[in-house]
Amino acid sequence: MNGDGEGGYWLCHVCELKSIGKSRVCAACFKTTCDKHLRHVTAYNPATGLYELQPICLHCAIESSL
Ligand SMILES: [Zn+2]
Ligand SMILES: [Zn+2]
Repeated sequence: MNGDGEGGYWLCHVCELKSIGKSRVCAACFKTTCDKHLRHVTAYNPATGLYELQPICLHCAIESSL
């Protein structure tokens, strides 16, 4: 589905940087994001009733701060 087969490289959807290895995804849009464009923000999780740190990409961070 998302380049999970041979090669195993992925692209950051913000800067299109190609990396190999374990990919990280945004918790909001589920797109692959590099470390530079992923930040951990505190978000309320209604399932647990707790505030939790979640990895959010730059795009979603900007949208949620509007
Ligand atoms: Zn990036
Ligand atoms: Zn996102």
